[in-house]
Amino acid sequence: MVTSEWGAIYKELGAQPVINATGSVTLLGGSTPVPEVKEAMDRADSAFIPLIELEKAAGDEIARLCGVPAAWITSGAGSALTLASAAFMAGSDDDLIQQLPDTTGLKDEIVIQHREQYWYDRCLQFSGAKLVLAGDENGTNEDDIRAAITDKTCALHVPVVEQAPKDPNVVPLDKVIEIAKDVGVYASVDAAGQIFPLENFGKYVRMGADFQCIAAKYMGAPHSTGLALGTEDIIEAIGRHSFVGYEGRRIRGLGRPHKVDRQEMMGCVAAVQRWFKLDHESRLAAAEQESLEIIKPLRDIPGVSAELIDNIIAHQPFGVTIGVDEEVVGFNNEDLVVKLKEGDPPVWTRTMDNAPLTIHVFGLNPGEAKLVGESIAAVVRG
Ligand SMILES: *Cc1c(COP(=O)(O)O)cnc(C)c1O
Repeated sequence: MVTSEWGAIYKELGAQPVINATGSVTLLGGSTPVPEVKEAMDRADSAFIPLIELEKAAGDEIARLCGVPAAWITSGAGSALTLASAAFMAGSDDDLIQQLPDTTGLKDEIVIQHREQYWYDRCLQFSGAKLVLAGDENGTNEDDIRAAITDKTCALHVPVVEQAPKDPNVVPLDKVIEIAKDVGVYASVDAAGQIFPLENFGKYVRMGADFQCIAAKYMGAPHSTGLALGTEDIIEAIGRHSFVGYEGRRIRGLGRPHKVDRQEMMGCVAAVQRWFKLDHESRLAAAEQESLEIIKPLRDIPGVSAELIDNIIAHQPFGVTIGVDEEVVGFNNEDLVVKLKEGDPPVWTRTMDNAPLTIHVFGLNPGEAKLVGESIAAVVRG
């Protein structure tokens, strides 16, 4: 609800708060820690603890919950990708860890399918690793992947988006894992958004991948945390490359700037514990209800289409697709995004290349769904 307290702390600084109708995006702050997480973070204040030991204990609890050999809390899924790529190259060898990001003499190539390039593949490169594309923009087959593998290849990397339609022109994950095993390189999976169904926690590792990351921002954890799940070997190496390896073992690895607070670690553990106990039926029903709230004020407005997105998989269940007909309303989808941002309060949505807007309810406070629908209706009515 937009009360006088809404965003007041930002306004006191002269900064403008916004209604987040985009979803869990880092651009706008990612997520809000849920009460159980805040409580755990507060309780963590009561004592200091060697973080290398806390990482181990927290990782063990998360690994147990996810059904994988080992886990590690990282500074976001992005950091998990960087540390994993460092681990693929240098393993747990302290001299090699300290050599990175200079990759001289190391297997430093990570193969990714051309059509599977994505926004966060850059995180793999921060360790010094190089991305090698298999296939081309029309597709990749198994031979293309094998042709892209050289004696410099350390891993094959796959981002998974189970909520998206299957692309028939890419090699599916199980085949990629098979090829990685066959040629003896690591299999790496970005499953950052795959937080539902619950079996997806660790599923890709159980399928044979050496590593999968999860973005804890999607579960009401501190936005800045993430999970690396994987084999004992890879998680041991990730720990050595990480900031606690640097401070706790005196190994000067590249993970030093990727710091996580003890409060954030405990918040992340609490978020995962909560997620496994949560009533997901209710969570999904609430997301559907809020999505319908957005649609309600838009039902009978000429030139506006508002459709419920029928998806419960991964991190952003339901949501609404909204499009305007320029002929009828006098402006296009991109203009609509701009006009909503210019409103009071500003409502943030997004579009790519003038496509219909995809709205998600993840970042909406109680009452804000109605406000979003009404703001769109007001903009369209002029
Ligand atoms: C959000 C996201 C990331 C980055 O995660 P952070 O926790 O923000 O670092 C990586 N990959 C995918 C697919 C994501 O959605």
